Amino acid sequence: MGEFDLIRRYFMRPAMDLANGVEVGVGDDCAVLVPTPGARWLVSSDMLVEGRHFLSTVDPARLGHKALAVNLSDLAACGATPRGFTLALALPRVDEAWLAGFSRGLLALADAHRCPLIGGDTTQGPLNICITVFGEAPAGAALLRSGARVGDAIWVSGRLGDARLALEVFRGTLALDAGGFEAARAAMESPTPRLSLGQALRGIATAAIDVSDGLLGDLGHILAASGVGARLDVDALPRSALLAAQPAALQRECLLAGGDDYELVFTAPAAARLPDVGVELTRIGVIELERGLRVVDAQGAAVAHGLRSFDHFKA
Ligand code: ADP
Ligand code: MG
Repeated sequence: MGEFDLIRRYFMRPAMDLANGVEVGVGDDCAVLVPTPGARWLVSSDMLVEGRHFLSTVDPARLGHKALAVNLSDLAACGATPRGFTLALALPRVDEAWLAGFSRGLLALADAHRCPLIGGDTTQGPLNICITVFGEAPAGAALLRSGARVGDAIWVSGRLGDARLALEVFRGTLALDAGGFEAARAAMESPTPRLSLGQALRGIATAAIDVSDGLLGDLGHILAASGVGARLDVDALPRSALLAAQPAALQRECLLAGGDDYELVFTAPAAARLPDVGVELTRIGVIELERGLRVVDAQGAAVAHGLRSFDHFKA
């Protein structure tokens, strides 16, 4: 199968393209999108590299899902509505079973969020997946990292830390029973981008970010961009029953520095009414004038953790 047959078979879906303001999708030199009057484009890229972000043994449908999910999560963090995405793919060889699974997982998530695949690039090389997402938000409405104000409450969606549990099992440092491992693995391999939450937080949240590298570091980005500090209650952090059954030190590591969670962390005035979009929201701390991040327990006592977030060039 040649390059163009491959693209046509696995990545070209013209009927859907037309459904979402896409005049020209896959197949020409450029895609042509119709902007919503008054809206702003929000654009983000995330790359997944084999051996770095995923194992060669991962189910291809889950990999397709995750490759788009981590990108949609960035749109969610900014309160954007997805409009389309491009896919740059390097493949070692044409493996039709792999391509079928990958495109199925990828396009199922795309369909669920009405975010059509509008173009890309395909080349031979070490397995590498780079997606760029295009979204929109009304002018001035995008949620940024820089808006947190002293006295704002800090909130997080969903639960943190399960993806890190799966990583520890893959590393051989933790044993879970089969059911526990499958749950943790699903959290790692099939994250849910919180798009409806992000959009519902427009005009309510003062700052937001998605947790990809670990809560401490990602919340730290909000604090740095906003020029404020915070107190974070580690005992308040929402966790699954699976994580709650682990030793306390491991729980804290997974919650504070786990990464790959793709939940939203956001700040909002303490009296703000938060939207109910069917996603659990937990209040985990408060923005303070004093710079830095103070981690405390339920009694308010300082917690020494010595943890830091994931950094590709320091890890
Ligand atoms: P060009 O040579 O003009 O850059 P290509 O030959 O690389 O175009 O691609 C042909 C068409 O297929 C283009 O519309 C491009 O956007 C699309 N395309 C290529 N690879 C992918 C892919 N992996 N997923 C979706 N569309 C793709
Ligand atoms: Mg061209």
